[in-house]
Amino acid sequence: GITVENVSKQFGTFKAVDEVSVEIKTGSLVALLGPSGSGKSTLLRLIAGLEKPDSGKILLTGKDATSASVQDRHVGFVFQHYALFKHLTIRKNIGFGLEIAKWKKSRIDDRVNELLDLVQLRGLGDRYPSQLSGGQRQRVALARSLAIEPNVLLLDEPFGALDAKVRKDLRVWLRHLHDKVNVTTVFVTHDQEEAMEVSDELVVMNHGKVEQVGSPAEIYDHPATPFVMGFIGPVN
Ligand code: ATP
Ligand code: MG
Repeated sequence: GITVENVSKQFGTFKAVDEVSVEIKTGSLVALLGPSGSGKSTLLRLIAGLEKPDSGKILLTGKDATSASVQDRHVGFVFQHYALFKHLTIRKNIGFGLEIAKWKKSRIDDRVNELLDLVQLRGLGDRYPSQLSGGQRQRVALARSLAIEPNVLLLDEPFGALDAKVRKDLRVWLRHLHDKVNVTTVFVTHDQEEAMEVSDELVVMNHGKVEQVGSPAEIYDHPATPFVMGFIGPVN
């Protein structure tokens, strides 16, 4: 799991993440939900190790990772515009991290085949990114992030740039994928319907603070603050 303890991150005098504490259970799929500018991406980047907190602690699988490198955290991430390598085939894109980690070629081939099956892109491994649809490309990005068998998977609006229909399909697909792989996953979105439908638990953020944590049903039935009520409520 992931433990965030009293974490703050300031840019200049602006508090992007303000004394956030949150506990994410091992194997759960958690949506980080909030309006634009509420600090979702910053919190995700802090967990990934792409930003250092000004104060507070981050524990990954029970160990203090606050000052660990991105590599040492063993996290996989997919960002909205985290582009694939255009000049590499899908196969090479997925296996990229494994080559860096100096896996043997035959082992990389096996793992890549397994991942192509997992994201249902078997048969497309020898294509280039430009020969895939946007949704297929995001599935390749997911496969690539899963290649190293991360402890934690961090997704920052991975389907944000896609059209509504593809987004809907992908969110159902993400749920299935998660249930198969069972990796602790934090999924950023500002779309409350997406968050409610996909996640086991929701973390609602506003102005750099966590407003409420709970299951979609708990939050929907018992919003803890007026902000949550307004943001989650049926009339939105
Ligand atoms: P969105 O839904 O629009 O992606 P968000 O919830 O992900 O929003 P963040 O990207 O975490 O929001 O940003 C939170 C606040 O911190 C914003 O006001 C943003 O302008 C500011 N911020 C983020 N990164 C930096 C940075 N590197 N330098 C200065 N300000 C930053
Ligand atoms: Mg963001």
